Amino acid sequence: MGRLIIVSNRVPSPRERTQPAGGLAVGLRDAVRGGSSMWFGWSGNQAEGEGDPEPSFDTVDGVTYATIDLTESQHEGFYQNFSNGILWPLFHYRVGLMNYSRRDWQIYLEVNALFARTLVPLLKPDDVVWVHDYHLFPLGQALRDLGVTTRIGFFLHIPVPPWSLVRSLPGAELLLEDLQAYDLIGVQTDEDADNLNQSFRVNGLTERARAFPIGIDPHEFRAQAEAGVGSDEAERLRASLRGAALVLGVDRLDYSKGLPERFRGYEALIARYPEHRGKVTFLQVAPVSRGDVEEYRLLRRQLDELTGRINGAYAEFDWTPIRYITRPIARDILAGFYRMADVALITPLRDGMNLVAKEYIAAQDGESPGVLVLSHFAGAAPELDEAVLVNPYDADEIADALHQALTMGLDERKARWRKLDAEVRRTTAGSWARDFLQALDEAQATPATPA
Ligand code: UDP
Repeated sequence: MGRLIIVSNRVPSPRERTQPAGGLAVGLRDAVRGGSSMWFGWSGNQAEGEGDPEPSFDTVDGVTYATIDLTESQHEGFYQNFSNGILWPLFHYRVGLMNYSRRDWQIYLEVNALFARTLVPLLKPDDVVWVHDYHLFPLGQALRDLGVTTRIGFFLHIPVPPWSLVRSLPGAELLLEDLQAYDLIGVQTDEDADNLNQSFRVNGLTERARAFPIGIDPHEFRAQAEAGVGSDEAERLRASLRGAALVLGVDRLDYSKGLPERFRGYEALIARYPEHRGKVTFLQVAPVSRGDVEEYRLLRRQLDELTGRINGAYAEFDWTPIRYITRPIARDILAGFYRMADVALITPLRDGMNLVAKEYIAAQDGESPGVLVLSHFAGAAPELDEAVLVNPYDADEIADALHQALTMGLDERKARWRKLDAEVRRTTAGSWARDFLQALDEAQATPATPA
């Protein structure tokens, strides 16, 4: 069997390699177990000097990590501007936040071509290549242009809007044509697959998107939660609550996560249901991300203001309604917090999957599980439809859902959680990677586009 070659913008750093973070890292760890594999991508470091960078190699537990540095202008044009300032908002249905520039599009294509040139000499004929995410849409075609004939699969971790939105991106047709170079395209949900296939159809291209929802390692996460709940941090959190119910939110500080809407929803709860005042605490963990992009700075300011206003209006000398933290919290500590939380409040306006929702379910104690309040627009919602589902744009609906969750009886909590837990165990990170790779193996490689 050939090697599995993973390509993603960022390759996990040595520290993360011993403690894998996201579903991708966990899934791949399972998928490559026993086989030989290489993970190729950007090092996170800045290149010095001119010319193509030389890859650096590092082998840990049988996986070879091959990384290249990017120059400051490549990082800015490819990563910050085109990937995060154009593709990210567009694919999260926020066309109005898209800051298009032709120059960034050029740099995006150049960096994809650079990835391809650097990767090709490292490939062997029977390797299988699996490319990840929106930073690398054109990579498959760039590899084909250099003569690569091996299987190449692609997985998109973010949502896909309908063609009527995708087409606002100048050059969208070209990106879709480039996507034809992949033998199989995986997306998170059926809705995403339908939307991408519609874009292909409208442009006279072959439909090749299929849904493969990503998961977590529920056993590992449950064990972390059981251990985490006894940590010093969890003890301190519990003592500080002094019997109040804990509502927990955990998200990168991103406009796709619906944080201002969520804060207003919680405000509506304490405004309209005064019986919860002093009896509930909302802890929002929102580590700052992409702080160098303007929209993210504006969002942060908005949340600082909202938190200040809500706390100022409703706090008592011995009760603070919202606790808001913009630093990251280590996952093993967070896992304990998830287990302690009476309610998880996860209300993205759009989210590819949302692993936090799955982690929260895996972390619960089945004897007295907490309640998940989840946005309809999280990629996890179709699977986790036993959660209390909300429209995140409606503050009153969030307030009603929170009230329902905080007053839900044990039998209903258990019944909902059992079904949710079964879902979280059904598709895991490992089964996701295996299913995709199996389907890629079976995918009919299509001949190059006829002239
Ligand atoms: N996470 C963490 N520390 C934090 C906040 C989040 O370890 O302070 C983890 C969280 O447990 C989850 C991941 O970051 O595993 C976030 O993944 P998700 O799919 O929910 O969102 P994304 O950040 O990929 O949009």
